[in-house]
Order: sequence, then C-alpha cells, then structure tokens
Amino acid sequence: AREAYVAARPASRALHERARQVMPGGNTRTVLVYSPFPTAMESGEGCYLRDIDGRDYLDLCGEYTAGLFGHSEKRIHDAVRAALGRGINLAAVGEAETSLASLVCGRFPSVELVRFTNSGTEANLMALTAARAFTGRDTVMAFRGGYHGGVLLFPLSGTNPATVPFPFVMADYNDIEGAVSVIRENADRLAAVIVEPMLGSGGCIPARLEFLAALRKATAEVGAVLIFDEVMTSRMSGGGLQQRLGVTPDMTTLGKYMAGGMSFGAFGGRGEIMGLFDGRIAHAGTFNNNVLSMAAGNVALGKIFTAEAAETLFDRGEAMRARLNDILARAGTVMHFTGIGSMATAQFRAGPIERPAPPTPEEEALRELFFFDMLASGIYLAKRGMIALSLPVGEAELDRLAAAVADFAEARAGLLP
Ligand code: PMP
Repeated sequence: AREAYVAARPASRALHERARQVMPGGNTRTVLVYSPFPTAMESGEGCYLRDIDGRDYLDLCGEYTAGLFGHSEKRIHDAVRAALGRGINLAAVGEAETSLASLVCGRFPSVELVRFTNSGTEANLMALTAARAFTGRDTVMAFRGGYHGGVLLFPLSGTNPATVPFPFVMADYNDIEGAVSVIRENADRLAAVIVEPMLGSGGCIPARLEFLAALRKATAEVGAVLIFDEVMTSRMSGGGLQQRLGVTPDMTTLGKYMAGGMSFGAFGGRGEIMGLFDGRIAHAGTFNNNVLSMAAGNVALGKIFTAEAAETLFDRGEAMRARLNDILARAGTVMHFTGIGSMATAQFRAGPIERPAPPTPEEEALRELFFFDMLASGIYLAKRGMIALSLPVGEAELDRLAAAVADFAEARAGLLP
C-alpha cells in the first residue's frame, strides 16, 4: 500500500524534498505532514480537491472545520472580490467589522461584546488574558487532551510542553469530581477554566452535559471565568454548542469557518469582562479586522450559515454517523465514530469513550491504515481520522463515504478488533 501511495505521487514527493530544504519538517503547519511525505494539493472546488499529481479527492477533512463553505461558494468569493475592489487593508475601522460583530453578538448567548483576532489560538490567548486581568489571578485550568491552539496544547500525560505562557493546572475530561476538586483546591489563584464542549483534536469526544453544568457551578462559586472554546463546535447550532446544550459560559472563543474560510478568530463574553478592552487593557493586531475576513464573515454568517442552515447540517451529520456506526457494528468490529453533528472521528477501541487516552501501537497503526485506505479510495480525511462535513457535501458523497467505510471494514476485518 505504501509503495502504491509513493508511486502515484511523484510530484508530491518531489515537492516534499524541496520543502525540507527550506522549512524544518518541510512545512509550517505540523498537522499536515506525515510519512513518507504528505499529498500536496493544487486546487479545490465545492467539496472536491485535486492534488499536484492530478488525482481527485472527495474532501471530508473540510480544512479541520474551517472549510465549512467548501472551496468555491460563490457568495464568499464575490464578497472577497468586492472587498479587494475597495482596496487591501485600510488601517482603519470599517462598517464590515461592526456588522460582523453584531452578527456574532446576536447569535451566541454568552457573547455580549466581542473582538476579532487572526486565529483561534490568539482568541484563546486573549480570552485568558482578559480572565486573568478581570480576576487579578494568574492560573488557568484546562483538560488533558484539550487543544486550544498552537501554544495551548495540553498533554494527555506528564507535564507541559513548555509552550503555555502562564501557570496552569489540569483535570481529566468528563471527570466531574476530579475537575470540581481541582477548581476548589485552586480557588484563590484560579483565573479561568477553559474547555471545549466537545474535544475536537482530542478525538471528537463530547462533554457530558452534567460535566459542563458542574464546571459552570464550580467556577461561579470560586469566582473563576468559565471559557468555552467553541473554535470548532460553534457550527453545532446558530448559537454554538452552548446554545444546543443550554449551558452559558462567561466567555466564548470562536474561529475556523466564521470568516468564510479566511483567517479568523474571535473572543467575547460578559460585558463586564470584555469591557476591560475599552482602553484599560490593549488588544492590538495588524490583521484583526482585515477587510477580506470581515467582508467574507458578513456573508458567511449573515447570509449562508444561518441558524436554520446550522440545524440542517447538524442533522445530516447525525445521520451520517449513525449510518457509519451501523455499518461497522454489523461488520462486527469495535471501530466506531465519535462526535456530534457534522464532526466525527474514527475510534479503534470499544465505546463509550469519555476522554482521550494515549493510543496503543495497534490503534496508531489502524488509524494510519484507515487514512491511507481512504486516500486510496479517493477520500481525503484529517490524518487523525476526523471528518468535518462541509455544506457542499451531498447525499451522493455520503453514499460514497459509507461504501468506502464498508469496504475498509471488510478488507481489514482480520486486523480490526
Ligand atoms: N481551539 C480549538 C478547539 C481548535 O480546534 C483550534 C484549531 N484546530 C484552535 C483553538 C486554534 O485555532 P487556530 O488554528 O485558528 O489558531
């Protein structure tokens, strides 16, 4: 299989050789690189991709959720072209910034005031900065296996990768007792608890409602700021997963698809916390309100991904996951997909899965096999086996995915637990 992969991609292979001469690891985005070399893409249309060797793929990676609108949504393209027609960044505030902020505040229950950034990472860094300033405390609590950005990666075991720029404590995801006791033990120094209402990078593992409710209660008791990182999960309803679950944090961070696929991040929350940015603390950034993101975001949120569109996509994703899991259960394997709505991740151990665990070598091998088998059948997933549906994915594409997963279960039956 590896030989076939290599033989089919001479251009990707040559590009990787060149790339390694000028970038350590051959890239600037670690998640996209794998052995023996990554498939390099040349173009995309709708929910399809073409690689630089001319092979086509059904794109179910969906740019790790940022590609919600697909590659060629006309209204997004038109908005970006129109913005370009008015000139690249103008070093000034503008109409589109205020209207996008109004859209965001109107949709997310916890967001009374909002500010924009270039990425989800920055949004989280700024939200944590706000919480630390607001409380006058220094420590942040996060969950093992949580991912909040390039420098905010919390390990499954051991201590920290030395990138998190402030003191922090950790607990296990979905462990109510453990989390509440860490919050109480650190009451005096705890500025914020940051949590994804479904672990995204950690494997599309949903939080239990009681877990989020317990965090809500315990943070309120000790005066710490509860931050929901909805960078990935905001697609789960018009007002994010928080609205679907009915739990309202003090602050929320956003990103990914919200600017139609242009670079984007946002952090927002209660007026008394966000109000600090009225001049008492600064929040700078050359590209925070860049005209392309602001223009595309208005169309993306205002015209295309309406609350109704979010419901439709959610239902489509639920149906997809049920269908795939039915196929796998009938094939007699423990392999299954976790997730909510339009996001799913392949798991190679029996469920229910409450929190991520370091993968066994067998799981690692199966994950890789699944990725390369899907690629061979013309389906591009995130390397970790994650699917993020985009709006252009239709019934024909879902049929194709179901058939490919059924083929995988049959062809690899001897290897699957
Ligand atoms: N938070 C979560 C939950 C994410 O999934 C990501 C990105 N995968 C980030 C934050 C960081 O966003 P960005 O890559 O835009 O910095």
